[in-house]
Amino acid sequence: MRLLLFLAALASVGCQQVPVTGRSQFILVDESEVASLSAAEFAKMKKLPADPRLPKIREIGLRIVAAARRDDKAGVLPPSSRWEFAVIDDKSPNAFAMPGGKIGFNAGMFAFAPTDDDIAVILGHEVAHVICRHGSERVSQAMGVAIAAAVADEATKNSSAKTRGTWMAAVGVGAQYGILLPFSRSHESESDRLGLIFMARAGYDPEAAPAFWTRFSKAGGSKPPEFLSTHPADSTRVNQLRRWMPEAKAQMPKKP
Ligand SMILES: [Zn+2]
Repeated sequence: MRLLLFLAALASVGCQQVPVTGRSQFILVDESEVASLSAAEFAKMKKLPADPRLPKIREIGLRIVAAARRDDKAGVLPPSSRWEFAVIDDKSPNAFAMPGGKIGFNAGMFAFAPTDDDIAVILGHEVAHVICRHGSERVSQAMGVAIAAAVADEATKNSSAKTRGTWMAAVGVGAQYGILLPFSRSHESESDRLGLIFMARAGYDPEAAPAFWTRFSKAGGSKPPEFLSTHPADSTRVNQLRRWMPEAKAQMPKKP
């Protein structure tokens, strides 16, 4: 009973809303804590500070951040002056944006992103993960799973070992396949939709998004997690992007 009261208290502090989609989310962690952990990780990464493509990443990134800020009612995104950009010395095609305003673009990603529009697809998607607080939500889900496991353990204390085993497996497997992964896919879809809006608003061509994902999925090879397993199936993703295209195009700046 005490645990239920505790959970109810957490739920009342933890409920937030995602910009644009309005989806409710459950967040138990402090964003500033996540930001300082992220900054420590970012500091450790091997960067290429003299890479001639870095100013381009910074320019496109700042335009995306400015466009995203219009939907940032909760003030999640740091001011433009606090964002830090880096080309990461890594051949795998990946990119990321961290809470607190750190953006990394792997050297290996440029082969898939020859134009400014392509880079805007990638950075739009990554900044959307930050404004939607997906990292914090994932951590909160994991904490929720740990609490559920503790509840199951307590509830089956007097049952047979077999019953207990079944319960714990249900919590564990259910968590892995029933809760965490589908939420991740929904995070990816959410970031695709918001990323499309942000890039269009920043003056880039949103049609580059379905083209990029089609090209990227055909390339195959070993992709790091952010750009592989947790993403929606490639055909689903392209269909969704097509569906959201009019919404994004309506946000494009009017030509003078
Ligand atoms: Zn993503």
